[in-house]
Amino acid sequence: MNVLINAGPWLEVPPPGYGGIENVVATLVPALRERGVRVILASVGSSTLEVDELVSVYDTGQFGDLQKPYNQVMGIAHAHQARVVEELRRRDDVDLVHDHLEVVGPAVLAALDGPPVLHTLHWDLHKHAAFYGDFPQSIAVNGVSESQLRRAPEALRNASLGAVHLASPLADRDVRAERGEHFVVMGRVCRLKGQHVAARVCQKLGLPLVLAGPVSGLGTQADLETVTQDPYHPLHGHPDVRYHADVVAPYLDGDMVRWIGAVGGRERDDLYASARAALFPIQWDEPGGTAVVEALALGVPPVGLRRGCLPEIVEHGRTGFLADTEEELAEWLLRADEIDPEECRREARRRFSPSVMGERYLELYERTITRSRSL
Ligand code: UDP
Repeated sequence: MNVLINAGPWLEVPPPGYGGIENVVATLVPALRERGVRVILASVGSSTLEVDELVSVYDTGQFGDLQKPYNQVMGIAHAHQARVVEELRRRDDVDLVHDHLEVVGPAVLAALDGPPVLHTLHWDLHKHAAFYGDFPQSIAVNGVSESQLRRAPEALRNASLGAVHLASPLADRDVRAERGEHFVVMGRVCRLKGQHVAARVCQKLGLPLVLAGPVSGLGTQADLETVTQDPYHPLHGHPDVRYHADVVAPYLDGDMVRWIGAVGGRERDDLYASARAALFPIQWDEPGGTAVVEALALGVPPVGLRRGCLPEIVEHGRTGFLADTEEELAEWLLRADEIDPEECRREARRRFSPSVMGERYLELYERTITRSRSL
């Protein structure tokens, strides 16, 4: 089977550090290729993931340009998608397109009488209802959790083939680190991820907390200072930058609550694997939760609020703890050591490994092809 996987123009695959969609593609592609799928990747020229063919219009990731005015962002997405269409018109050996480019991807592909398309939904669709209200019915979709699909507009639910949970290559590797004293929030610093709640809880309990993650793509304190000192910088006044400065920063105090910026690679894995628990005090219905799956794979119990995909990934009392209120979150955090790390690792291997994800997508590819024949 020849599959064109469209990862979009925003970041290279695998991403240098933070990168949700690109991480999913980087996890999925090797599992597909092991199962005999030929992968044509539509991404940017600097992508280093091993694939059979690479198609691109931009040499490097355009993520920084997401801060540009909306029409320019759309222009970039359309230029990338035009290249995908050109490729699909030029050849007739592509059996299926697996599209990950939100909004523009399905709209452009629906207008083309090309191969069957499966579009993966990565976002909180409730918020994107206006974009997805008239979803083209020729395109099949899948979600990254059941909870995400339940909240999706009806047009999307009608086109849905189900949910495929996110996976992590860490589930197949035995990454271990000596357990430290610290708790971690691993994720973009923004109100939705709730770093301020984690900080408030840990400060009250006197527990050391490390906040790791970029602030609107800014990975270091120096980057943040450049933005705050320059009133003409495009990120000056960005909601996430203000959230960090006004809501999170007042909690930062020496060693107790620290923000260490964005981390990647070995540094990220070591920091995460040595945590006593991974905190998810989420303030939204988290659609997929890669960082939750990674915590399980590393044998670190997730402790979070019972929202979005969390109850599908974490079994309260066995592989982590789920709370309904901030007070409860504090209570469970103190009991994080009761969770058996081996149980977390086993769960990740069984449910969130790249091979499980690869099998599941292959099944959906077959169903997408069958569905398109019956339309
Ligand atoms: N991440 C990272 N470095 C950081 C913070 C986060 O590499 O400093 C990674 C994290 O390990 C995970 C991804 O970014 O793989 C976040 O994905 P998730 O689905 O948890 O959240 P999203 O940002 O997509 O809502």
